[in-house]
Amino acid sequence: MAHTPSRRAVLRGLAVTGTAVIGFDPGTRSWAAAGSASGPDTVGIPRLDGTLVTDEPSLAATADDYGHLVHHRPVAVLRPGSVRDIVAMVRFCNERRLPVAPRGQGHATFGQAQVRGGLVIETATLADIGHVGPDSTTVTVGAGARWSDVARATTAHGLTPPVFTDYLELSVGGTLSVGGLGGQTHRHGAQVDNVTALLVVTGAGETVRCSPTRRPDLFHAVLAGLGQCAVVVEATLRLVRAPETVRHYLLSYDDLETFLDDQRVLVEEDRFDYVEGQVVADADGAFRSYLLEAVAYGPPAGPAPEDTALLRGLRHDPARVERADLAYYDFLDRLAPAVAALKAAGLWSYAHPWLNLLLPGSSAAALAGRMLDALTPADLGPGVVLLYPLRRDRLNTPLLRTSDDSLSYLLGVLRTTPPDDTAAADRLLAANRSAYEATAAAGGTQYPVGSIPFGRADWRAHFGPAWPRLKAAKRRYDPRGILVPGQGVF
Ligand SMILES: Cc1cc2nc3c(=O)[nH]c(=O)nc-3n(C[C@H](O)[C@H](O)[C@H](O)COP(=O)(O)OP(=O)(O)OC[C@H]3O[C@@H](n4cnc5c(N)ncnc54)[C@H](O)[C@@H]3O)c2cc1C
Repeated sequence: MAHTPSRRAVLRGLAVTGTAVIGFDPGTRSWAAAGSASGPDTVGIPRLDGTLVTDEPSLAATADDYGHLVHHRPVAVLRPGSVRDIVAMVRFCNERRLPVAPRGQGHATFGQAQVRGGLVIETATLADIGHVGPDSTTVTVGAGARWSDVARATTAHGLTPPVFTDYLELSVGGTLSVGGLGGQTHRHGAQVDNVTALLVVTGAGETVRCSPTRRPDLFHAVLAGLGQCAVVVEATLRLVRAPETVRHYLLSYDDLETFLDDQRVLVEEDRFDYVEGQVVADADGAFRSYLLEAVAYGPPAGPAPEDTALLRGLRHDPARVERADLAYYDFLDRLAPAVAALKAAGLWSYAHPWLNLLLPGSSAAALAGRMLDALTPADLGPGVVLLYPLRRDRLNTPLLRTSDDSLSYLLGVLRTTPPDDTAAADRLLAANRSAYEATAAAGGTQYPVGSIPFGRADWRAHFGPAWPRLKAAKRRYDPRGILVPGQGVF
């Protein structure tokens, strides 16, 4: 190349429609079609099956996320038409040391999928769902597929991935890059524990198939690896038999320790298919009411649910048991009506300075008790507080960190605050940081989907014994360090 254009000049001048690339040549300062002598070939822009856009609304949309707290503008957005497009653009960026971040549904809350002055790859266009038949044990899906798409496609054949996040409109690539926790995790592990193979494009632009036995170092660096080593383009997910209906229980408690202990009993006995819980404010605004949510799957995934056996020995208030039988998909998609209501009320676009911690089981009551005592309804807003246990022996993905205790409790303080109240957001971010520090001092850590100011030393501590292997994989697979700077890991 005769000249070395700046990052901005290289990407900002691009506009692409279909397969026709139109580029801005910073040398001649003119627009030209791909392939012409003075066109984008001079800056090496590849031909694409999809589109590369630089329009203002696309850049603004990708400089935002569900948190609405961080805004880093990219200079271009790729809507890939093929895996080849991702390879081509990652190589293009790699050669020029331009930062790159894949973006699924943009539901991270603290800029994790954003990239200042680089390229965002929107994976939503790579959402194919592979063949599923009644005897399938796996399904291969595009990284941009949403879990709702996967659930619909598989339940049509009486099958299902074993673990779902509470909200289904998240991308497969997005949750596999963090872990993917849900009420079934106590039994089946996280979503990352139920992946049998991946197709990825590394930071060097190499397409690699990996699995627990094929390039396992890459496989284990990608699952819960925060996008640091490769872009996931396809994932093969384990399937199990789906129930037709489920029985859903909400059990009320007035005492935190009893609530946590009953949750522990249920997951240690493996009595239910799904166990979660919430903390709600009482009439005085104190977070001292607890709801244990437990779900038993019916045939053909389990026996017909039987109340007496399922609720045996539990210490909830028997006068306040809520019980409902639901179709399986309706249970998976149970948040849809609430999300529609939040959107209708304009609350979906509020700021979300979320706090997600993994508390060690041995100190969960003390830690959660202190944090809940300090929580006010104003600091939560119209959000929810989640509190539920995860069994360590079911979590087998090295980069999904929890405490060393046999149980950890996920505490999710899912705050919703007015978008223009930056003082409140700053105060809540500082509160999140203090809560993280108290948790880390007790041997716990964060579940990295929320909004906690976090530095490189924090990440080293977070990954602990897994850090050297992540660092080695980063050096090998993303040697120029272009991938996913928004996580702040390297
Ligand atoms: C309403 C709501 C409910 C939620 N419920 C749960 C829950 O029950 N359980 C749970 O575990 N989490 C939950 N989350 C958190 C969620 O799982 C994570 O934030 C997840 O990363 C979001 O997926 P996404 O597709 O929006 O990813 P994005 O926000 O687009 O990306 C998140 C991160 O993953 C990277 N990434 C995205 N796609 C890829 C890819 N293909 N390859 C490599 N890296 C990639 C991005 O660069 C970014 O760093 C919830 C979030 C919201 C907003």
